Amino acid sequence: MLFRNCAICHKPFQYSGFGPVFCPVCKKKDDEDFSAVSNYLDQNPGCSGPEIESATGVPVQMIMKWQREERLVTHKAINVGLTCERCEKPIYKGKLCDECKKLLATEFLSSYSSKKQDEISRRTL
Ligand SMILES: [Zn+2]
Ligand SMILES: [Zn+2]
Repeated sequence: MLFRNCAICHKPFQYSGFGPVFCPVCKKKDDEDFSAVSNYLDQNPGCSGPEIESATGVPVQMIMKWQREERLVTHKAINVGLTCERCEKPIYKGKLCDECKKLLATEFLSSYSSKKQDEISRRTL
């Protein structure tokens, strides 16, 4: 049997082995908070983090954590406060905006293909 400490209230509980390490009480609270936030966003698309916090009682930090983990994925949450780690443009999920993601992918691809080129030229020598 697997016992873990709850990530929120730090009480030990029987952990199922997958998903977030939340005890049943905190898990229920977390689910309720999550649906309160997504309902509020459905009715108030584009609202700001502090607005959601005062309406639902869920801290902005928590909402941004859900966005970073891509658990809360909706363009309606664009103004919550999450920003791209590279260019600081507002984003609604993950860590980077689409442009920076594309840019990083191209950089990655070009460094990968130049490495391949190196290998090929070394092999032909
Ligand atoms: Zn707990
Ligand atoms: Zn960016």
